[in-house]
Amino acid sequence: MTPSVHGVHHVTVICGHPQENLDFYAGVLGLRLVKRTVNQDVPDTYHLFYADGVGTPGTDLTFFPWPQMAPARYGVGLAVEIPLAIPVGSLPYWESRFEMHGVARGEPETRFGEATLPFRDPHGLELALVETDDERSWTPWQAGPVPADHQIRGMHAVRLLERELTPTAEALEASMGFEPFGEEAGWHRWVVDGGGSGRIIEMRQQPAGSRGAWGTGSVHHVAWRVADDEEEMTLRASVRDAGLRPTAPIDRFWFRSVYFREPGGVLLELATDGPGFLRDEALESLGETLILPPWLEARRDEIESALPPLESPTSAA
Ligand code: ZN
Repeated sequence: MTPSVHGVHHVTVICGHPQENLDFYAGVLGLRLVKRTVNQDVPDTYHLFYADGVGTPGTDLTFFPWPQMAPARYGVGLAVEIPLAIPVGSLPYWESRFEMHGVARGEPETRFGEATLPFRDPHGLELALVETDDERSWTPWQAGPVPADHQIRGMHAVRLLERELTPTAEALEASMGFEPFGEEAGWHRWVVDGGGSGRIIEMRQQPAGSRGAWGTGSVHHVAWRVADDEEEMTLRASVRDAGLRPTAPIDRFWFRSVYFREPGGVLLELATDGPGFLRDEALESLGETLILPPWLEARRDEIESALPPLESPTSAA
C-alpha cells in the first residue's frame, strides 16, 4: 500500500520587510507569531512562524524576509497560491476587515462548491480565504485581533502551476498517497489521507508557461505532515522509489525535515508533527523573543545585531 502524508504541515514563503510581514499576518490576518527565529541555513535572516493559538501542525505559515530580493516571477514550477480555511459564514467579516485595512483582494468566487475570496499580501503573495465546515484540528488565539469564530483555521490547500501535470501527478500518487478528485476551471484537485480542508493540492497545467522564479512574494516550499521519524523514513523511501531525490532527514529542532523537488520543480518537504513549538517556549509567551536552536545559541550576539528590530503589529482590532 502506498504510504500517505496527512495534509499540509506548513508553507514557507519569501517576503519583503519583516515588520510589514508581521503587521499583515499578525495584525490584519490575526495569526499568532508562534516562533521568532532565524533561517538555520542563513542565520542573519529572520524565520517567522505564524500559526493558530498553539502552533498546531497544518496552521503554520512561515516566512524568510529577504527585502533585498527582486519580486517573484510568476510561472510554472512554483506554488502560486495558498488558500486558507475560514468558518462558513465568515466571508462578510473578512471582506469588511480587508476594506478597513486596504488589503488588495479579488472578487468572491466559488471553488469546488466553497465560497472563496482571493487576496494578496503586501509583498505580492497570492492567497485566498475559503469557507469550509470540514473538521480541523485548531485552537483559537484568544489574544488575537480577530474574534475566535472568524479566525483562520490553517492552510486549506496549495495551488501549483506546472508545465506538465502528468509527471507530478504520478509521483504524488505513487509516493505520497494523493488521489485525483476532479477538475474545475482548469484547476485539477488531488486529495490525501481522506481529503477535506488541509488535505488538498490543486494544479494547473500551462504547457507554454514560462518558468517561475523565487523572489519576494513567492512560496519557497510546501511541507507535508508525517506523524513521526519512523513514518518520515517510510515516506522518504517511497519518494526515492518514485525516482525523486530526497535529502537525509534534517533536525529543525521543532520538527524533522526531508526535502525534495517534485518532477515539475516545486520544492516539497516532509515534516514531523513533533516535537513542536512548545519545546523551548511557554505557551503564553510564544514568539515574543528571538529563539535560536541550541547549536546557534553561541552566536546569539552576532546574530541579534544583524537582525532588524521587530515591534508588535501596528494594526490591531
Ligand atoms: Zn519547511
